[in-house]
Amino acid sequence: MKTEFTTAQRSNPIIQEIEANLRKCVHCGFCLSACPTYSVLGDERDSPRGRIYLIKDMLEQGGAPNPEIVSHVDRCLSCLACMSACPSGVHYQHYIDHARAYVEDHHQRPWFDGVLRAALTFILPYAGRFRLALSLAKFAKPIAFLFGTKLAAIINMAPGTIQKPTLPEGSQIYPAEGVRKKRVALMLGCAQKVLRPSINEATIRLLTRFGCEVVVSKDVGCCGALTHHLGKDDAARDFAKSNITAWSREFEGGGLDAIVINAAGCGTEVKDYAYLLKDDLAFGEAAQKISKLSKDISEIIADLELPSSIPTDLPDVIYHDACSLMHGQGITEPPRQQLRKAGFNVVEIPGRHFCCGSAGSYNLLQPEMAGQLIDRRLGGIDGVLSESSAEIIATGNIGCLVQLASGTSTPVVHTVELLDWATGGPCPENLPH
Ligand code: SF4
Ligand code: SF4
Repeated sequence: MKTEFTTAQRSNPIIQEIEANLRKCVHCGFCLSACPTYSVLGDERDSPRGRIYLIKDMLEQGGAPNPEIVSHVDRCLSCLACMSACPSGVHYQHYIDHARAYVEDHHQRPWFDGVLRAALTFILPYAGRFRLALSLAKFAKPIAFLFGTKLAAIINMAPGTIQKPTLPEGSQIYPAEGVRKKRVALMLGCAQKVLRPSINEATIRLLTRFGCEVVVSKDVGCCGALTHHLGKDDAARDFAKSNITAWSREFEGGGLDAIVINAAGCGTEVKDYAYLLKDDLAFGEAAQKISKLSKDISEIIADLELPSSIPTDLPDVIYHDACSLMHGQGITEPPRQQLRKAGFNVVEIPGRHFCCGSAGSYNLLQPEMAGQLIDRRLGGIDGVLSESSAEIIATGNIGCLVQLASGTSTPVVHTVELLDWATGGPCPENLPH
């Protein structure tokens, strides 16, 4: 792709990197059919190739971006399906992240959007604040209409019940059962431990049952993805540095074989810390080490070789790929193989590479597009339910889990909850016992 950056712009290392990335794009358009927003809107400007052009123009022109370009950048889900489809290796993830940061620094948003984004940044990454906000939203539901359409829609998304924390507060060590095979750190997440604490409980039971000592550090918090996707790169780096410091301390103390992450969106972010902090003299090297140590839970389970079970009366499972796992980390088969090995029959959804519309805080900021995408995904699931004996939906990311559960009465669980159940743990609470 031809670029027209000025000499002064080209002296900026970020522009040099962006230009090198842009030059890989050969305009082939293979990414278009993979893109959820293009498939809904049919507008090239809401496709990966279109966004690449628009962002290039925005950066070449400099200054405040055209609000129309901002709207197309904002509509991108960061689902990364375009990266999976691109034959030329265009790194769309880093490209759109740079674009979001540029918009954040150079664009004055309408006041409501600005306040909403500031509120999300203040609340979502902190479990205590998030829990309080959900409790307030729950009580505000009957009068939500008084707050205007946009805010009412967000208030109405709050779950009906908010579960109390179940794991002890503070740093913990959960010893391995039998011979210790690995010592791993578990990231509990921020939103996940509020919305579905049973996922971390199941993960700890499963890991310890199969020989892992599990370390939880009280100093590890949000991965930073929620702020990163809002263009607030400095805040994302601060979260990354804080987590790197805590895990490095653990690595140098008792040693760590891996950092286990059971929310795919967080895993994609932590695996990218090496890039996020590549120019940071104090944290660059440690960030590389932490990114290398980071594993999705399915990667660790593959190493632990769970025993095969004889299929008994376990229900058939519809498996939903989280974009962050499928496109962000390239993990598709291990969770399916593990579910089959544990005795579940796995049923596929048509168009499985399409995003469900969750995408971090996307469903709060872009409710119309998110609504169309979840309707399409649930329509596909309804078709599968009517033609198969599947009774539950499993996925590997809390955002997808909540998004799917918002529109179906079919129980939605994390893959790890099923694996825990099949190997001796309790049946997940939302399944018929
Ligand atoms: S990240 Fe997803 S929504 Fe954004 S351009 Fe790529 S495929 Fe489309
Ligand atoms: S698939 Fe890759 S090379 Fe082709 S248009 Fe899309 S980004 Fe460019």
